[in-house]
Amino acid sequence: MSETSGTSGTGPRLRAVLDGIPTYKPGRPAAAGGPVAYKLSSNENPYPPLPGVMERALAAAAAFNRYPDMGCGELVAELAERFGVPASHVATGTGSVGVAQQLVQATAGPGDEVIYAWRSFEAYPIITQVSGATSVQVPLTEGDVHDLDAMAKAITDRTRLIFVCNPNNPTGTVVRRAELERFLDRVPSDVLVVLDEAYKEFIRDPEVPDGCAIYRDRPNVAVLRTFSKAYGLAGLRVGFAIAHEPVAAALRKTAVPFGVSQVAQDAAVASLRAEDELLGRVGSLVCERTRVHEGLAGQGWTVPESQANFVWLRLGERTADFAAACERAGVVVRPFPGEGVRVTIGETEGNDIFLRTAEAFRKERY
Ligand SMILES: *Cc1c(COP(=O)(O)O)cnc(C)c1O
Repeated sequence: MSETSGTSGTGPRLRAVLDGIPTYKPGRPAAAGGPVAYKLSSNENPYPPLPGVMERALAAAAAFNRYPDMGCGELVAELAERFGVPASHVATGTGSVGVAQQLVQATAGPGDEVIYAWRSFEAYPIITQVSGATSVQVPLTEGDVHDLDAMAKAITDRTRLIFVCNPNNPTGTVVRRAELERFLDRVPSDVLVVLDEAYKEFIRDPEVPDGCAIYRDRPNVAVLRTFSKAYGLAGLRVGFAIAHEPVAAALRKTAVPFGVSQVAQDAAVASLRAEDELLGRVGSLVCERTRVHEGLAGQGWTVPESQANFVWLRLGERTADFAAACERAGVVVRPFPGEGVRVTIGETEGNDIFLRTAEAFRKERY
């Protein structure tokens, strides 16, 4: 099999692994100039930046003729203290997607396998394919939960990395402590398990473990966290991993030099210092999540219990029609054609419009 593709003599030869790569579909923005529209399609935080965070970001912006601190020193120190881990266990990147890509680059290439649940986060197939490795997708259970038993059985000599997205995007479902520990006990120690905890702060189920506790005596576990969701910094691109030294060191090697801007670093530090206020906002979103879930259940929908800032409606063939109905009503949701829609918990008014649309759709189509 050739390493490159493209027709002879026309343009640069590109790696064959790029052929047929799925493109990341960003959540659609709300249409400009249309009726009031709420963007419930990208799991963003609907609250605007906190004044104190904004102030620090703007101050950093005044020096953007300079490169940022390449090692993200202040942020790493702050994170190490916040999580009670050595600074050498913390590695930052351009969003946790950036860090996830570095983890795959550090572990898997052509001939190697990366296991993850499906459906799950749509970045996993992309970053796996870019690295030249092979995706092994393990279907979720009937209840849209990770099938950890099947994932353990999918491990081969070629497996290098396993993603466990907890809570899972787009279903919001979780794996709990006992089943996760049992799974980790079955994974060979030379296979890296990445616990993607992008929505950690939204979890209220006490049985869902904190990856930072799990990783401590497991050198083959890395925890991914982000400032994009609970902390509201999606546009600044900063995330991080907590992992034992060899893995964290590999992340520093695979990082794009100066990838995390000083604006992002300083805003992240300010956000950690404003955590009480930010987590208060998360609490309000969790209340809204409960309200939306109960509203949908009351309308007769079967909705998996979500521990994230979104809900999942399995609509099958009705998915596209439902998304179109939402858009006409003024909310943009994220359809996965033929499967279902993921709807971010946003502003109260946006959530209300979504609930009213879901109710009308249900009466009409079921
Ligand atoms: C949103 C999300 C991320 C975080 O993305 P960033 O690159 O940090 O913005 C990571 N993993 C999952 C599962 C997500 O849904």
